[in-house]
Amino acid sequence: MTIREIKAKSILRKYKKVDSWFISRYGMNLYRGCTHNCVYCDGRAEGYYVDGEFGEDVTVKVNAIEILRQELDPKRKRIPFKRSFVMIGGGVGDSYQPIEEKYRLSRKVLELMDEYDFPVHILTKSTLIKRDIDILKKINRKNRAIVSFSFSSVNDEISAIFEPGVPSPSERLKTLAFFKNEGIACGMFLLPVIPFITDTPELMEKTIGKASKAGLDFIIFGGMTLKEGRQKDYFFKTLRNKYPKLIGEYENIYQKNKWGEAAGEYYNSINLTFDIIVKKYKIPPRIPLSLYKDILEENDLVVVILEHIDYLLKLQGRTSPYGYAAYSISKLKEPLSSIKRELERINGVGKVTESIILEILKTGSSSYYKKLLNDYSDQ
Ligand code: SF4
Repeated sequence: MTIREIKAKSILRKYKKVDSWFISRYGMNLYRGCTHNCVYCDGRAEGYYVDGEFGEDVTVKVNAIEILRQELDPKRKRIPFKRSFVMIGGGVGDSYQPIEEKYRLSRKVLELMDEYDFPVHILTKSTLIKRDIDILKKINRKNRAIVSFSFSSVNDEISAIFEPGVPSPSERLKTLAFFKNEGIACGMFLLPVIPFITDTPELMEKTIGKASKAGLDFIIFGGMTLKEGRQKDYFFKTLRNKYPKLIGEYENIYQKNKWGEAAGEYYNSINLTFDIIVKKYKIPPRIPLSLYKDILEENDLVVVILEHIDYLLKLQGRTSPYGYAAYSISKLKEPLSSIKRELERINGVGKVTESIILEILKTGSSSYYKKLLNDYSDQ
């Protein structure tokens, strides 16, 4: 393993629009590269320009805290920050991978988030996050914190093959139960499910069942992408070794798509399976409104709710105009409440969408959204 220390020029990544998966407008990578070394990790793909041998070498942004402090300083900002969760994790390196024990960058970032009053959402696969329970509780009391773990399934043996440097799914579930017990909202990112291995209805049911037992607040689901080049080659090496009979099936669904996506029919079929099971266990497939309603500004709240409606409709195989409307709204400079009478002039906004937007502006919620969510909830 090689550790390379670098001085970064910037840390905080600003998204073009609010991200409705994470309810976030800002994110960061404190480390580049990840010794968790998941076989399917797309950080390995050439497009991410991660230096060195992925899975073994890690670049550490040693000045991250100093830079972030400058970036967060309101006196230096011309445009104020928009309220949202700040996303810590994901991308090209887990923020709680083993090297964090030594550098403690994630912990120090949390301290800054607490100081500057930002809500945080952490996505990790590492139980090391338990170390920071004290600061997370503090943030949660003042501004809210969400802790999410990603899983490809809850099967420990399969995880040992595809996620060799990560605590087992059983350990991850225990850690989630620990955070839930401490009053922190928790989610599962069942992402990616591994085709023909962890996406079977039986294993998916087991995984979602365990998430339900742990009392998780939501499950976000997604299939696997395999980009041509390093990522696909590395994955196929393991596949050849451990599941040689599946090679043909994989070649069938991954046919040199530019984004590494599998065939649409494949994604449709796993989405359908997920939809049936997650309804059975009554877990929302998106972050619940109660966790962000009081955080987001009005335009972002509308964008997120419309994108969630869009997702729920598409999950059920239906078409939806709401994603396009949300995209158009995300481009607006003025608050929606200041143009209430002109909503139909926004691209993609028709009569029905207009009434949904007006209801959100008035009540902070949407009865149509709630109706769609009824199938996934006990309330
Ligand atoms: S934990 Fe995440 S970033 Fe790290 S190797 Fe696994 S998938 Fe990649």
